[in-house]
Amino acid sequence: MCAKPATRIPEEQPQDQQPDELSVELDEDLNPFHIAQQQFDYAARYLPDLGPDIADYLKRPQRLITVEFPVQMHDGKVRTFVGYRCVHSRVRGPGKGGIRYHPAVTADEVRALASWMTWKCAVVDVPFGGAKGGVVCNPKELTKDDLRKITRRFIAELGDEIGPHTDIPAPDVNTDAETMAWIYDTYHMMHPGGNNLPVVTGKPVDIGGSLGRREATARGCLFATERALARGVVPGMDSLAGARVAIQGFGNAGAIAAELFKEAGAVIVAVSDSRGGIYRADGIDPAAAQEHKRRTGSVVGLPGTTTMAPGQLLEVPCDILIPAALENAIRADNAPRVEARLVVEAANGPTTPRADRILQKRGIAVLPDILANAGGVTVSYFEWVQNIENEQWELETVNRKLKIKMTRATDAVIDTQQRINSSLEQLEAERIRRGRDGPRLEPADLRTAAYVLAISRLASVTRERGIWP
Ligand code: NAD
Repeated sequence: MCAKPATRIPEEQPQDQQPDELSVELDEDLNPFHIAQQQFDYAARYLPDLGPDIADYLKRPQRLITVEFPVQMHDGKVRTFVGYRCVHSRVRGPGKGGIRYHPAVTADEVRALASWMTWKCAVVDVPFGGAKGGVVCNPKELTKDDLRKITRRFIAELGDEIGPHTDIPAPDVNTDAETMAWIYDTYHMMHPGGNNLPVVTGKPVDIGGSLGRREATARGCLFATERALARGVVPGMDSLAGARVAIQGFGNAGAIAAELFKEAGAVIVAVSDSRGGIYRADGIDPAAAQEHKRRTGSVVGLPGTTTMAPGQLLEVPCDILIPAALENAIRADNAPRVEARLVVEAANGPTTPRADRILQKRGIAVLPDILANAGGVTVSYFEWVQNIENEQWELETVNRKLKIKMTRATDAVIDTQQRINSSLEQLEAERIRRGRDGPRLEPADLRTAAYVLAISRLASVTRERGIWP
């Protein structure tokens, strides 16, 4: 059961207030690729057997493709767009990762997201490497026809750089099943005559999509959270019954997490999207919030709720905080004000390394992205297998297999953390004996444990395969 709910209610903010998280002046390096590399380096210190040469190879992205292409827009004007596709690693299998449409997409963001995919696939033990793509654009200013043309031209420009056994895209921020259908169709037009369904996952169910893929990221979060609570990650809170949950981001990951966590017995006290947040101490009905967002474009203004500035959501007193929007939500400047007992990272990269250290010192556990949101890629893997076998699994089968994968991965991360922390003195002695630089090893948090698990798995396959030629 959960602790008594906190009583501080956020003050009302103007509804038209814009997102403030990324506009704050900070002295923290928020480049996502630098952050991904810092996370790797931090974890590698707990792996005395990992030589610096293999570490350097595993850390670097294998390749980054940049394409610049024209699209004739709905107003007749021609605009040139920039798109990226990065394969970080194919050590354990073909590249796998979503495609994001957002004005803030950069090469380094795509590199970071691709590397997180590598570690995530290894943590959840699916036979994929890591990849990611993005197009710099603002979908809010584009028509559906514009988006379809951007997608088709982007995929045509990538040509054979993607493929069912080399690099397999999926949905991410501002892309969905419909976008994946356009990707499949474009690739199929360019490669007629074969079974091209496995070239992309997250497709509509009637063209090879998997039942359960749409909900998979959120459902995976739920399974990982339930297991982590049952394993005692938050002292005194062993289940979701009555847990007060705040969710930043109300898209595929966040809105469905709100529904599933509520179904599992939690009370959703706050949710937000890019326009602002809403709070209700007695609980928000996620279905009503979704319907309000569908009608008005935002959750803000849902009757019976108090409006908050977007940044305020992260500071709402709650048991579980779920960042489900973009990178760098929880940083050195606001981490001291997080009032949750557990952070569950549905988003990729929502917590900076400095925020990690602050949360750890404050005793707030973080279920890291490379574990918590791995349900999406896990069901993408199931979709890929179904496509190759020309099968359609029952929803119950998909969810059962997802639960097994997420539970096993959560156990593996917690076991790794316990193993590291029970042998910290030996690890520290070994680190010094090998002349490795850096400060003394601190007890590992769950992110470090997840990285240690993932890096070990990649290092082991790298050794088995050998370095070609
Ligand atoms: P989405 O486009 O469906 O939703 C994103 C949501 O975030 C929207 O509601 C948007 O309004 C909100 N948002 C954007 N900026 C915000 C801000 N500053 N404050 C509050 N809300 C903000 O995207 P998604 O697929 O739900 O992805 C969200 C996160 O989950 C991303 O980090 C993504 O990489 C990660 N993720 C997604 C999947 C997947 O299968 N879709 C899988 C794994 C991880």
